[in-house]
Amino acid sequence: MNESIDAAVAAWREALGQEHVVTSVESLERASTATFPTNASVVAILRPGTHDDVQAALRIANRFELPVYPTSRGCNWGLGSSVPTRDAVLLDLSRMNRIVDFDPRLGFLVVEPGVTFQQASQFLRDQQSTFFLPVPGGPPQGSLIGNIAERGEAAGPYGQRADFVANLQAVLASGDCVHTGFGRFPKASAKHLHRHGVGPNLEGLFTQSNLAVITQLTVWLTPSPQVLKPFMARIGRPDQLNQAIDTSRELLLHRVVETNGIGLWNSHKMASTMGGYPWQAMDGKTPVDIERFPSEPWLIGGAIYAASPEIADATAALVQQKLNAVTTDWQWGDSNDSQNVYLGVPTEHNIRSAYWRKKGGLPTHINPDRDRCGLIWMCFAIPLIGQELVDVINAVQPIVLQHGFEPNLGINCVNGRCAHLYLSIIYDREIAGEDERAVACHDQVMILLRDLGHLPYRLTLLSMDSLPPSGDDHQRCLQSIKRALDPKSILAPGRYDVVQD
Ligand SMILES: Cc1cc2nc3c(=O)[nH]c(=O)nc-3n(C[C@H](O)[C@H](O)[C@H](O)COP(=O)(O)OP(=O)(O)OC[C@H]3O[C@@H](n4cnc5c(N)ncnc54)[C@H](O)[C@@H]3O)c2cc1C
Repeated sequence: MNESIDAAVAAWREALGQEHVVTSVESLERASTATFPTNASVVAILRPGTHDDVQAALRIANRFELPVYPTSRGCNWGLGSSVPTRDAVLLDLSRMNRIVDFDPRLGFLVVEPGVTFQQASQFLRDQQSTFFLPVPGGPPQGSLIGNIAERGEAAGPYGQRADFVANLQAVLASGDCVHTGFGRFPKASAKHLHRHGVGPNLEGLFTQSNLAVITQLTVWLTPSPQVLKPFMARIGRPDQLNQAIDTSRELLLHRVVETNGIGLWNSHKMASTMGGYPWQAMDGKTPVDIERFPSEPWLIGGAIYAASPEIADATAALVQQKLNAVTTDWQWGDSNDSQNVYLGVPTEHNIRSAYWRKKGGLPTHINPDRDRCGLIWMCFAIPLIGQELVDVINAVQPIVLQHGFEPNLGINCVNGRCAHLYLSIIYDREIAGEDERAVACHDQVMILLRDLGHLPYRLTLLSMDSLPPSGDDHQRCLQSIKRALDPKSILAPGRYDVVQD
C-alpha cells in the first residue's frame, strides 16, 4: 500500500483540496482508536464536502486499488467507532452536514451523512414541526445516516430507523451513482414517500454492507402525539421477568403500545447510566459482588403515544392492569415534558455508562475512544418469548461474571414478535489484561448464543467473522454482487463481508 498511497494522496489532494486530506499521525491514531482492541489502522483521512467529491475520491481509490472505509460521524462506540475492518483510508463524511429538504406536511427530512441527531432534533424544534425524529440511546452527535447504515434503533415508533427511509443516494465503488426506490426518476412525485418504487429495489444492498457509500437519503419522521405518557415499573420478583416479557408481547402485538415502545433493563444496566462503579462498597475490587449487587430488580419502561388525554389515560390503565401482577413501584412520567427522549430529544444519559469503571468519573466532553473507556456492545435477535429470553440471560450472566464484568443487559421489544437483547461489556482499557478478558468474554458469549441459534443482528469489529456458514447459496449470490459492483474490493473490505478470504 505504501507506494501507491503517496500517489493517491496527491491525487486526492488535487481533487478534494489540500486541507481535506489528512495524514497527521495524531489524527490517524485518533481515528484508529475504538473502545476495545482492534487490528486495522487508518492510513489517511479524506474529508469530502460534496457528493461529487465522494465520487471523485472513490474513482481515485479504484485507480490505485486502495481500500476506503466510509463513516458519517464515526461514533459507532462499542461496535468499532471509526476504525476500519482492514487497513484503509477513512472516508470521513462529517463535512457533508446539510439538511437538504424538509416537508412539514408529509413529515420527512432529506439529509446528508454528516447530519447529527442533535442537529436534526434542533432543526425540527426551530421549525416548530409537528413531527419528531426518534433518537437512539447512543450519542447525540451520532449521524442519522451512519446509524441507518448500521440498521440502528431508536426509542418509540419508527425506531427501527432503516425501515423508515426512502430514496437512498448511493455511490458505488466505481464512482457511479444510484438511487433506491423511485429516486432514479428525477421527476417522480413519490420518490421521498414510496420506499420500494417500481421494480427491484436496491435498498437492502446498502445497509450493513460494503457495496456503496450513502451520500443522501430521506428519513420519515414520527407524527408527534397529542399526549405522551412515559412509564417505568419494577419487575416484582426474578421469576416474574418471564411473565413481564410475555405480557409485553401481547401489548405490542395488539398495538396497545407502539413498536419499540417497551424496554427492560437489569439493575446493572440501570446503575451504569446513573453513576460510577461502587468502588468504596466493593473495596476497590471488580466485578461487583453479585449477592450484594444482584441483576434484579429488572425494570420495565416505555411510553404510550396517544391522540387524546382520554385515550392516553385508558391505555395507561390497561398497560398497568396487564402488568400489575408482576410489577411494583409504577411511575408515570410528566406528559408535558417536551424534553423526553421518547419525543426525539437526544441525550448523553446512556453514553455515561461507558465511564462506569473509570475512576476519574465523567469528563465535560464525553469521548469514550479518547478516554480509553472499555466497551463492547453485543446485540442479538431473539424471539419475544419470556422463557426463551430468560434462558439466554441465565446462560450469559455467569460467563460475564467469570470474566470479571457485570452482566449489563437490556431488552428492546422491537415489535410483538422479536426482541433485541443487549450485553454491554464495560471496563477500563487502562488496566492491564482487561482488554484481553473483555475480548475473551465477547468470544465466549458469541459462541454460546450462536450455537443456541441466537444470532447477532448487528456486528462489531470483533464479530465480523463470527456468523455461522449459511445453509444455502446466499454467500455465493452476494459474492457475485460484490464482485460485479466492486471487483477490486476497495469498499470497506471485511465489513459484513460476503467475500471470505
Ligand atoms: C452507551 C451506548 C448506547 C448506544 N445506544 C444505541 C442505540 O440505542 N441505538 C443504536 O442504534 N446505537 C446505539 N449505540 C451505538 C452507536 O453509538 C450508534 O449507533 C451511533 O449512531 C453510530 O455512530 P454514527 O452515527 O456516527 O455512525 P458511523 O460511525 O459514522 O457509522 C457506523 C458504520 O456505518 C457505516 N457507514 C457510516 N456512514 C456510511 C455511509 N454514508 N455509507 C455507507 N456506510 C456508512 C460505516 O461502515 C460505519 O462503521 C450506542 C452506543 C453506546 C456507547
